[in-house]
Amino acid sequence: MRKLVAGNWKMNGNRENLLEIKKVSDRFSGSDVDIIVCPPFTLLSAAKEIAANIFIGAQNLHVDNSGAYTGEISADMLEDLGVTHAIIGHSERRTECSETNDVVARKVKTALKKKLNAIICIGESEPERKENKTLSVLKEQIYGSLKDITGTENIIVAYEPIWAIGTGRTPSLAEISTTHDSIRLNLLEMYGSSASNIPILYGGSVNGLNASEIFSVANVNGALVGGASLSFDTFSPIIKAIENKT
Ligand code: PEP
Repeated sequence: MRKLVAGNWKMNGNRENLLEIKKVSDRFSGSDVDIIVCPPFTLLSAAKEIAANIFIGAQNLHVDNSGAYTGEISADMLEDLGVTHAIIGHSERRTECSETNDVVARKVKTALKKKLNAIICIGESEPERKENKTLSVLKEQIYGSLKDITGTENIIVAYEPIWAIGTGRTPSLAEISTTHDSIRLNLLEMYGSSASNIPILYGGSVNGLNASEIFSVANVNGALVGGASLSFDTFSPIIKAIENKT
């Protein structure tokens, strides 16, 4: 399975920050890791032009391909720019934009029709974790977010415990291992052996110091990185760490 690191810039970055993406693209030319940077929509086109050696992804897309949806961006438009990946169902969108599993599944379907790689985010909240509901919440999110999706091609799952995002806190390695194994089992239940090729990323406060140990966990195939992806200096140690995973 290919190793993968995706950076989610969220609502950060102006044109002057494009240099960070270019540095990543130049430094990791020829890497065996799929590197994806997802800047805000305003930078997608310019990022695509200056970063030939990495993939450029979007942070969201609309369910429909065109129409009267003021302010929205479609899979068609992303395809037109040469964007190859889209983050779908990030917890911030699930919480702040009321994106349900059903909406996420519809967006995944739209993305796959355009051959966009769908990075589908799942993760439990802190109260759910405290009530020992993590694995059941994740199972429900996996089944719901992949409802009616029949194949595994172009599917990437990102496990992001909500309480670990932007907090500097991470689950223990044993917890990450249990969770990722369970996600893999859920995917195998749904899709059979082809699910063994679905990359499962860990996300939530990954940095240059903790990346290597997180990547040492068996079913961790890469990372979805927020804050640390904003600069070359903090993103590149994470990419190097996954390059070293055997
Ligand atoms: C994210 O929001 O997807 C994320 C993982 O953020 P951070 O790395 O900053 O915790």
